[in-house]
Amino acid sequence: MRRFKFLRDLQPGDLGDNAEQFLERHASPLCIFIEGEDSARTRAFVTLSHGNEPSGLLALFRWLQSGRRPAVNVVCIVPSVAAALAEPRFTHRMLPRARDLNRCFKPPFDDAQGALAEEILEILKVHHPEAVVDMHNTSGSGPSFGVCTFEDRQHDALVSLFTRRLIVSNLDLGALMDISEYSYPTVTVEVGGREDEEAHALAWEGLCRYFEADDLFAVPDADWGIELLRDPIRLELRDNVTLTYDETPQVNYDVTLRKDIEHHNFGAVTPDTALGWAEGPVTRLFTAQDMGGRCALAQIVRLENGILYPARPLKLFMITTNATIAETDCLFYAVADDGTALGAV
Ligand SMILES: [Zn+2]
Repeated sequence: MRRFKFLRDLQPGDLGDNAEQFLERHASPLCIFIEGEDSARTRAFVTLSHGNEPSGLLALFRWLQSGRRPAVNVVCIVPSVAAALAEPRFTHRMLPRARDLNRCFKPPFDDAQGALAEEILEILKVHHPEAVVDMHNTSGSGPSFGVCTFEDRQHDALVSLFTRRLIVSNLDLGALMDISEYSYPTVTVEVGGREDEEAHALAWEGLCRYFEADDLFAVPDADWGIELLRDPIRLELRDNVTLTYDETPQVNYDVTLRKDIEHHNFGAVTPDTALGWAEGPVTRLFTAQDMGGRCALAQIVRLENGILYPARPLKLFMITTNATIAETDCLFYAVADDGTALGAV
């Protein structure tokens, strides 16, 4: 069963007045083909894998409305239309009880989300794009960054169309980039918070650069001044450990993180930066594994007199203040304060 609806040669008049109307009109996962000046090459643009992350969709809609023609063909994949249209609109990451689509790009593909992921991989295979950009919003407000599984000049060039911060990570979580990277240079771009005007603006400007560049990888010796963050470690909660965010320790929860912890996103923290409160030992509350699967908790957090501190100077990012995301995904990612992998010698 095909889940995607395939659209091509869209005219500005076919679109509706806004992105929401456009989705309503089709009410299914969308694959939109835009023919380029050079129709022998194709790039892929994936967005709205999460229904509550609209920046990429808004940028794509604006492009379609403009009637402009990209430098090469672009195949645009917009999967989570149903989640985006569930009321209240653009607030559901996925439909209730569904798996996170960006964890489904590895077998088994035997539920609805898995089938959708498998079909996205098939579409990519058919078009064999010269690059894949997967655009997301971060869960909270925050700066933009790129993520890729593999770093080289091609990935630097691709990321630099959008942002100057690049996380190199190969956690094999089942994200689109984990698998598409084997066939095409792929980057995930997080343009910033889903409600941030800045994020929408960056999505638009980056999309224009990505669609309009004649050669994405042209400049051989450019220095893009990219800040690299290598092999971050995820701090996760153990099962049944309860978490809340507040300004003072909350006795009814195992862990209270400071409400303003997000302010440390991409900043350096020292062993004196209080992150929150908990009753130890930390190994009962959290897990953190390095690339080799070894416990790295001793390098991430420590408890002193009921206060939770970084174990050493760190750079933290993708910090959430949403307890549900923290419980089902992770609390934050950490690297050494110079951006290198923790535990590297
Ligand atoms: Zn996302």
